[in-house]
Amino acid sequence: MPELPEVETIRRVLTPQLTGRSITGIKVNCAQVIAHPSAAQFCTDLSGQTFSGSGRRGKFMFLFLENGDRIILHLRMTGSLFISPPKYPAAKHTHLIFLLNDGNELRFEDTRRFGRFWFLQKGEEDIYSGAQRLGPEPFDKRITGAYLKEKFGDRRRAVKDCLMDQSMIAGIGNIYSDEILFEAGIYPGRPAKTVSEEEWNRIAKLIPERMAFFVEKNAVSPEEYFRTKGEEYQNTPYLKVYGHAGERCRSCGSVLRRTVICGRGSVYCPECQPEP
Ligand SMILES: [Zn+2]
Repeated sequence: MPELPEVETIRRVLTPQLTGRSITGIKVNCAQVIAHPSAAQFCTDLSGQTFSGSGRRGKFMFLFLENGDRIILHLRMTGSLFISPPKYPAAKHTHLIFLLNDGNELRFEDTRRFGRFWFLQKGEEDIYSGAQRLGPEPFDKRITGAYLKEKFGDRRRAVKDCLMDQSMIAGIGNIYSDEILFEAGIYPGRPAKTVSEEEWNRIAKLIPERMAFFVEKNAVSPEEYFRTKGEEYQNTPYLKVYGHAGERCRSCGSVLRRTVICGRGSVYCPECQPEP
């Protein structure tokens, strides 16, 4: 699932390609991906509109329009959003195609079909997408050791699960919670209440540092992004544990292990992140 660094990458690639372009029409192949308003209303309201910029909150992306309206979208498990010249045939799971006035198409592809779009008019409150219930961004000054300890310090839930709680910190998922906890030297399954103040401080420092690092390392050119449709970003060589179970730890040489924590596959080093 795309997490904050991937969504930010997509946003940075698409924004210059979309800004100033107008929507001349929308093809809806699967109305299910439009969560608000109705698919018919979505097409009527967006037709003729011009993109003016973009934004992001956690794993949500915003596409702003010149008249103050906005599109909110969440890619969920397998969603992919990219600009394509019309000559390339649309893949099987292409659910939405925005026709643009420069002749290109903004396509939304999603094999699992969990990705969602919301359209909101200028000034309309977002009571639909869930983006308004997100906790602070990883880069927010409010993310401190004291904040984490206050929110999670008396919980039995696994520290990894805490880091993925979007209502407390927005944008961290399965991949980056593993990476942050590896750097912190903390076993991902440890109950949050056993994490010391010093360890919460360490985690709080690593959250913005790691997220900024991966945003920077994920950066791709528009050509490369179009070629891969954003699918290859998870093979980034900069991931130290996620996707590397069975390989040697880069710090100590031990074999990295995979385990399941709160239903999610997690990779850790048994030496650097000892189980309690
Ligand atoms: Zn190690």
